[in-house]
Amino acid sequence: MAIDSLINEYFLTGAVAGLPDRHFIGGEFVESLGQQRLTSVDPGSENVLGEFSGGDHRDIEVAVASSADALKSWKRVSPAKRGEILYRTAQLMKANSAWLSFVECLDSGKTLAEAEGDVAGSIRLLEYYAGAADKLDGRSVPLAGNYMGWTIREPVGVTAHIIPWNYPTSTFIRGVAPALAAGCTAIAKPAETTPYTALLLAEMFTEAGLPDGVLNVVTGFGVDAGAPLVAHRAVNHVTFTGSVNTGVNVMQSVAPNMTRLTLELGGKSPLIALDDCDIDAAVEGARWAIFSHSGQICSAGSRLIVHESVHEALLERLVEVTNRIKIGHPLKNPDMGAINSKSHLDVISGHVRRAIERGSDILTGGGIMADPESGKGWFFAPTIIDNLAQNDPVVQQEIFGPVLAVQVVRSDEEAIEAANSTEFGLVSGVYTRDISRALNLAREIDAGQITINDYWAGGVELPFGGTRKSGFGKEKGWEGIEAYTKVKSITAKI
Ligand code: ADP
Repeated sequence: MAIDSLINEYFLTGAVAGLPDRHFIGGEFVESLGQQRLTSVDPGSENVLGEFSGGDHRDIEVAVASSADALKSWKRVSPAKRGEILYRTAQLMKANSAWLSFVECLDSGKTLAEAEGDVAGSIRLLEYYAGAADKLDGRSVPLAGNYMGWTIREPVGVTAHIIPWNYPTSTFIRGVAPALAAGCTAIAKPAETTPYTALLLAEMFTEAGLPDGVLNVVTGFGVDAGAPLVAHRAVNHVTFTGSVNTGVNVMQSVAPNMTRLTLELGGKSPLIALDDCDIDAAVEGARWAIFSHSGQICSAGSRLIVHESVHEALLERLVEVTNRIKIGHPLKNPDMGAINSKSHLDVISGHVRRAIERGSDILTGGGIMADPESGKGWFFAPTIIDNLAQNDPVVQQEIFGPVLAVQVVRSDEEAIEAANSTEFGLVSGVYTRDISRALNLAREIDAGQITINDYWAGGVELPFGGTRKSGFGKEKGWEGIEAYTKVKSITAKI
């Protein structure tokens, strides 16, 4: 259906037809063994979209058994054939991109344009890994004397994917696509507030020819369904994207089995504006870095480290553009959408309230909002807090909302020091007209990615992943598929 008809029908009826409500295991939707029913809510209106299964350890047992069984034949399917199935899924995603974007927008609270961007990016990811499936070469290694040696790359086996609520589609594809391309099977556990696109996509993979059981999706709470999945003995790799605290729990859960692990955790990523920067470009960069998806992005530019000589001019313009940001129901494509859940809205609000109580310099925003048309929904005003010290909680703690912490510095050295002085190391953006200064900062800052003069520069081809408490391991790019392979050395005596 065209996107306009879907939107009109939703605003008319408040209902969405065709949302899946059960686990997807063994190539079909199945009843849950766990008895809980969870509800998904449209954060832009607080309207209930539907109920779905809250699975538990019994559903995980079924899913893992199905994946382990499917692995036996999937790992022997020719790499070219695996790539072909992924490519066909990408084609199906294209044909259904309006539907997927509509569901993603409603489920997550991001604007329709942001959801469309995520779906398009996910299609690109699938195409990239479809092309990578038959390129997982090993090496030939020169050895001493009458010996020859090679390495081959084999699939790691059954993989588990714990999906967060901020990017339900792209995080799912980012993990599942390279795993399947490498010959692994995959079990995904979407977040408890955003179950739908993973289920819809699992069905699309099957329609594109993926054998039953190669990709299973179990929905439910983290403690009930996620915890038994990551702790399962038959799971060989876990990819977890979420908060630091849950990441620590997951590390502890995988330890007894020594399961391989990729962790994509939080961030407190700075955008650094040096004294010679293009102020307009830095303002534009900062605006999108923090207010895209209401700041609910692990790599959001949640700190602005700005040189004192441009501080005043830059902040004046940034406050001006921030004050023009319109919020509204995500399907109506405002500048900024909703906060995914009421509980998360309370978390953001708590951070800002405590900052206000400390007497912080709030330049704009600072409170909870509602859709101006309906008076409903979970929204937070785009907020800028100026002149913060390095040890301020707003500088140190991830808020995961539309709240920008501003720090003023007097030199490149101070900027580097400020950038490196949190627990995190995910992304840093550097704005300067001097390439040598930019590259010096790129070298000195400890983060997984440094962008120069454009905060979101990157693509599916580029590895993504942090240092320190932002986690370890890389997703996307070539590194993203290597993670799902294990290297075996083979030697021969002549
Ligand atoms: P948030 O607290 O913002 O919801 P989480 O990091 O807890 O973020 O959630 C990210 C994902 O991790 C979700 O899919 C959630 O269900 C899942 N999860 C939560 N707790 C656990 C756990 N102990 N083990 C595995 N997955 C979990």
